Amino acid sequence: MNISELARKLKITTQELKEKLPELGFDIGQKAIQIPDEQANRVIKSWQEYKNQEENKKRLGKIQERLEVKKETAIENGLVLPASISVHDLASKIKVSVPKLIQQLMNNGILATINESLDFEIAAIVLEQFGYKAKKENVEEKEKQVDEINKEKLQNLISQHQENKSNLKIKPPVVVVMGHIDHGKTSLLDHIRQTQIAAKEAGAITQHIGAYQVEKKGKKITFIDTPGHEAFKVMRGRGGQVADLAILVVAADDGVKDQTIESLKIIQKEELPFIVAVNKIDKSGANPEKVKKELAELNVTPEDWGGNIICHLISAKTGEGIKELLDLILLMAEMEKEHLMADYSKLAIGTIIESHLDKGEGPVATAIIHSGKLKKEDNILVGQAYGRVRILKNWRGESLSEADPGMPVKIVGLKNLPKVGDILEVKSEKDLKDLKKNLKTKKYLKTGETQRIKEEEENKKSLDLIIKADVSGSLEAILEMIKKTAIPEVKIKIIKSGLGPITEIDVVVAEKSKGLIFGFNVDLTTEAKKCALEKGVKSFTSKIIYEIIDQIKKEIKEVKGKITKEIGLGKFKILAVFNKTPEYSIIGGKVLEGKVLIKSKVRVWREKSLIAEGEINGLQLNKTDVNEVTAGNECGLKYKGIEEIKIGDVFEIYKEEKV
Ligand code: GDP
Repeated sequence: MNISELARKLKITTQELKEKLPELGFDIGQKAIQIPDEQANRVIKSWQEYKNQEENKKRLGKIQERLEVKKETAIENGLVLPASISVHDLASKIKVSVPKLIQQLMNNGILATINESLDFEIAAIVLEQFGYKAKKENVEEKEKQVDEINKEKLQNLISQHQENKSNLKIKPPVVVVMGHIDHGKTSLLDHIRQTQIAAKEAGAITQHIGAYQVEKKGKKITFIDTPGHEAFKVMRGRGGQVADLAILVVAADDGVKDQTIESLKIIQKEELPFIVAVNKIDKSGANPEKVKKELAELNVTPEDWGGNIICHLISAKTGEGIKELLDLILLMAEMEKEHLMADYSKLAIGTIIESHLDKGEGPVATAIIHSGKLKKEDNILVGQAYGRVRILKNWRGESLSEADPGMPVKIVGLKNLPKVGDILEVKSEKDLKDLKKNLKTKKYLKTGETQRIKEEEENKKSLDLIIKADVSGSLEAILEMIKKTAIPEVKIKIIKSGLGPITEIDVVVAEKSKGLIFGFNVDLTTEAKKCALEKGVKSFTSKIIYEIIDQIKKEIKEVKGKITKEIGLGKFKILAVFNKTPEYSIIGGKVLEGKVLIKSKVRVWREKSLIAEGEINGLQLNKTDVNEVTAGNECGLKYKGIEEIKIGDVFEIYKEEKV
């Protein structure tokens, strides 16, 4: 066949054909005019293949382009995912087939079935491979909605109780104490509690359960024993109605400060009736009139300034004015009577004000009863927790068979730990049984709720943890305890936390972040065990919370040990404490052994117990600033640390060196 004829067949010029032929693998000289027919047919076939490939490439390029655009928009918008999503739902969200998604998961080493839940982290990784950027659903926003529902629920429950007016009786007012730090809230609460015990029931053992009651002129008043608006905010935030009245403490020598204003805002928002207690009037710098003026400027005008705010002068130190303050509270309660009515004959409704896990007793909660009576053996539902009231005690530690409205009570018998602010309801055994099923699904929805600490501080080693537990109460307790075990040198990241057994997914997440897995009352699934072994992921499970915490502490130490080495320097004994603030103390003493260096670290020993840890921030020898003082010398130093220290305490001085 003629070359020119072949070119015509292929719809290209002869020149183009001659240039392309070597590319297609045919060795025909530039000068050739003819090629054998059989070879010409092969050229036609190859050319067709070549054209098809080119066509495909073009098409792919276009698809790619479209994908890029899609990816960009997806990245811009971000796909909002919950903390956990099933394979099925995820596939339909990104419009890919379930098998395709499962295949992609397998490519990442994750075996998952259609109904299996994927944690956000896993879903995000896979989505990225499909060109999407995943954004985690704002849990806070969701929780806020739950809080709103809670609030409404409590209101409904209380109004149901108030339907039968003839059954209503007055209950003790619940009082919360708020105000700026150091203005004397704790001192006031302590003074009221102590004087009442001394007067009424000397020798009674008081238990700190977060609230107590006092009796004045035959009438009871309940005080919330956690001062400050933070705790109050949490309780209110969760929808729990806690206080009926407030005392706003303002120190007469300091006046209105930031947290005074913040407290006022909360009081006003909640429409809580309140009394201002102008405290510390025993102090020489006290100026109650200045406090009143500052309050008037905030439109909180005291009575003697022509307003209607009761401003009462007290000293939490000497006790002056406190009896009268209690009288004023009773007076105010009398005025607010219609809001303090409760039906004593109904089943109890309450709010949790404190909860913790006790080694011997299990979950322990303090509730304040709003209306109705709580009885021993009642079946209760508290937020996501439930159980039966096995032990009911008042704040004096006395066992009760029932508790009245307005009363703070300690409850033992819950199966899991409730949250502060949760609403307590009494349910029939059958109702509770039905509810338990729902509780499980609800809990499961929360499974895999993860917290990612956004920024990693530089120069800090981090310990990544995955925490799994059987119930949300214990999970919360563990997370809370981990927070408390944290040390500044090691950054603890909870990369994932959730309920249920430790799964393969947990192992994969742990491997990716080089993290450790801890399980309370849960085990590894068979696949997870295999996977952990293969990938060399460390896990620790126990049925005892403290064992888990101890192990975490050990891991923290190990991580810390990798970065620092401790070098002992000397010993120092405190002979005088000159100045004390919440953050630091100026002290004098003697270097017993070795030396003291500025910026060295300190362990404070009292007798044989370690009571605090801190740092030396300033050092003086004969009133001159120095960097070092050696054994035998007396010197002054600035100790930075929050715990109280006193004369006789011994400092163990050391420094840490980076390895
Ligand atoms: P909170 O932070 O508001 O709970 O304040 P505290 O009750 O802890 O008090 C802070 C400091 O003020 C403590 O050192 C108390 O001893 C002191 N304080 C509290 N009330 C009085 C008072 O009426 N008079 C004097 N002189 N000191 C007081």
